[in-house]
Amino acid sequence: MLIVIALGGNAFVRRGRPLDQEEHLYNIDKAAELVAKLVSDGHKIVVTHGNGPQVGLLDELQLKGGRRYFRLDALVAATQGLLGYFIANAIDKALGTYGRAVAVVTRVSVDPEDPSFKNPSKFIGPSYAKRDADLMAQKYGFIMREEVGRGWRRVVPSPEPMGVMEVEAVKRLLESGFVVIAAGGGGVPTHSHFGVEAVVDKDLASQVLANSLGADAFIILTDVDGVYLDYGTERQRKLERVSADELLKYYYEGRFEEGSMGPKVLAAARFVKNGGAWAAIGALDEGYYVFKRERGTIVERA
Ligand code: ADP
Ligand code: MG
Repeated sequence: MLIVIALGGNAFVRRGRPLDQEEHLYNIDKAAELVAKLVSDGHKIVVTHGNGPQVGLLDELQLKGGRRYFRLDALVAATQGLLGYFIANAIDKALGTYGRAVAVVTRVSVDPEDPSFKNPSKFIGPSYAKRDADLMAQKYGFIMREEVGRGWRRVVPSPEPMGVMEVEAVKRLLESGFVVIAAGGGGVPTHSHFGVEAVVDKDLASQVLANSLGADAFIILTDVDGVYLDYGTERQRKLERVSADELLKYYYEGRFEEGSMGPKVLAAARFVKNGGAWAAIGALDEGYYVFKRERGTIVERA
């Protein structure tokens, strides 16, 4: 089987821990061992991953220095290299190979007419007091918005991914037996050969890649053991097996949080609607059982 596995933030950093190299190296082995097990079972694997905290950190470091050396598109590319290196190394270690895992710097095309460009709403980077936020807006032209309970932060557009530029390269790498890491951080959003100051959701970009590759399964691994209705309330109920249509119905009823579970649900449902056999959303800790469709939320055709 060809399986696309999307890793969440918990594959790299535990909640409340510092975002340093030791922390990343400590955590990444778990995901790498899962990938190695699936590869040993004969499957072709593409790993995708988020980059929110890391891109925020790089941005914060340069802004603290009082100058903006690189724009957001470049920072996304930088974190693809950073995290792709950790993941590739960890997978090679788990497999006992050298160079079998390859991280591909990935660009994703976006539509400049995407409505999100008129209404940037994705928070990125550090939070500021109102006065400093105004300074950032003046100095860099950032759009700053107040995030409840966190202070003022920069917001950027989060356009829909239209296509993944490196699909053909990823296909050939897979055919040649490589384990591929791609679409990190949702890919670098680009249009007409230029990087765009925006971020693409990693779950949605992973889905576009998964469908373009004709993947058999798409597995989103995170820190919760599945998709719940009425999450966080006394009535919360886990969806064990659900059709893509039923899940989409809940999604469009607004039953899932936009910044976290919403895009996962949409990505999983879209993968199946666009021809994938099944998708799953579950805990990284239970990754192998999610692959066996014994744990997590399994999204099916009907
Ligand atoms: P990742 O880094 O893996 O993308 P996110 O924080 O974006 O992680 O999404 C996972 C989080 O979504 C979980 O930690 C959980 O608290 C939250 N969440 C929000 N709504 C739901 C829901 N309906 N069912 C399950 N988890 C939910
Ligand atoms: Mg997320």
